[in-house]
Amino acid sequence: MAKQYETVIGLEVHVELATKTKIFCSCSTEFGGAPNTHTCPVCTGMPGSLPVLNKQVVEYAVAIGLATDCEITRVCKFDRKNYFYPDNPQNYQISQLYLPIARNGYVEIEVGDTKKRVRIHEMHMEEDAGKLIHDEWDDTSLVDYNRSGVPLVEIVSEPDMRSADEVIAYLEKLRMIIQYLGASDCKLQEGSMRADVNLSVREAGTKEFGTRTEMKNLNSFKAIARAVEGERERQIELLEAGKAVVQETRRWDDNKEFSYAMRSKEDAQDYRYFPEPDLVPIIIEDEWIEKIRSRQPELQTEKLKRYRKEFDIPEYDAKIITGSKSMADIFEAAAAICGKPKKVSNWLMVETLRLLKDHNMEPEEISFAPENLAKLVDLTEAGIINNSVAKEVFEKIFLENIDPRVYVEEHGLKTVNDEGALEEVLKKVIADNPQAVEDYRGGKEKALGALVGQTMKAMRGKANPGMVNQKLREMI
Ligand code: ADP
Ligand code: MG
Ligand code: ZN
Repeated sequence: MAKQYETVIGLEVHVELATKTKIFCSCSTEFGGAPNTHTCPVCTGMPGSLPVLNKQVVEYAVAIGLATDCEITRVCKFDRKNYFYPDNPQNYQISQLYLPIARNGYVEIEVGDTKKRVRIHEMHMEEDAGKLIHDEWDDTSLVDYNRSGVPLVEIVSEPDMRSADEVIAYLEKLRMIIQYLGASDCKLQEGSMRADVNLSVREAGTKEFGTRTEMKNLNSFKAIARAVEGERERQIELLEAGKAVVQETRRWDDNKEFSYAMRSKEDAQDYRYFPEPDLVPIIIEDEWIEKIRSRQPELQTEKLKRYRKEFDIPEYDAKIITGSKSMADIFEAAAAICGKPKKVSNWLMVETLRLLKDHNMEPEEISFAPENLAKLVDLTEAGIINNSVAKEVFEKIFLENIDPRVYVEEHGLKTVNDEGALEEVLKKVIADNPQAVEDYRGGKEKALGALVGQTMKAMRGKANPGMVNQKLREMI
């Protein structure tokens, strides 16, 4: 029988914090500025410049640590990680090796019906590097230091995950917690959340871990799932051929669905870490921690509990809605305005999710005002527009944040409740469709549907379907 293998995965996740300014200077952290416009002597590594720690970085890091049940390190400090690379103008990165800000936490994930904890080994604060832009046409490389000095936390998990599904569940959970805290927008595409995947395989049933590789360059959940599968297969093939897995850093090429060796694995010694001499240790007192704890917003688990009590919506819907802070905010605001949580939840669960998928968007990118959704609910409930018109109007709200009252007025979309006008149209539809009329009279209920459809079409969708149905039955 063929050998069975188990995959073992641990993640190193980098998250850019949502501070306005960089970690050691007052330059802007804004994404997408003209190259090298968000720079100063500190973040370009000029001799004689000195770092000053941004307090907000520590507060976000502590907030994330508390939300993931970590122990907060009361006396922590920064260390210098020395290496040369053109995107790193100081020739070292200020990071934390010996006393990371948080340790020994966990997050709970759910895959299928199984709940499990993924332990967090540690979380440390550090600065991001600049960006190299390779111009293959000109055969040159340009450097942009706007990102140099943007604050990061690196969250290192224990090797507790066993499948791509668990990896995705873990990342989604982390992202949700951090977004709820407002500590980062966690966009994989823009690189404000980046995951390196450490993976090894071992024969099922054995205790010892196999040799692992670390994969980089993963910028979507789908790429991460494919990389887990691809790397697992590659390692099993090696072992089956009697070869050894080499501990190394590999680059995942998502187009070729294969990883390529980048460099042999470096360890801490290679970086000649030493305590950062330009910064004093950070003392984190109880009071400060309590202050940060008291400012923590309601997180998903608590929100879900509250929704169960306050709103009569299905558990599944509540989970999806609270799964994204932006969705939950829209839900609560719209429900408060129109007082119809169930209707609001329906719009989010059906049309919003469909449009997000069609437009390849994340819930965080939703840009319509909750007021407009609330107004739409009122318009439908009052029978001023019918359901098919409402769907069309909602799409406009979703894409352009239009005011539905104004839109319905301007486009003449109100349901026609005028019986006289309807009767005129019905007379014509009945005259034009003798076969369907005869079928209905002969007992074919279905034939009525065709006639209703014809009538709705003739009235450009603005008729009240209930009224059309009733009138038709009376008139035939
Ligand atoms: P280093 O300090 O060399 O980067 P760590 O021990 O800190 O290595 O681990 C880095 C990441 O690799 C962690 O997320 C950890 O869970 C994971 N990891 C460690 N050993 C294994 C293994 N054998 N298989 C899979 N992942 C592993
Ligand atoms: Mg590491
Ligand atoms: Zn700067």
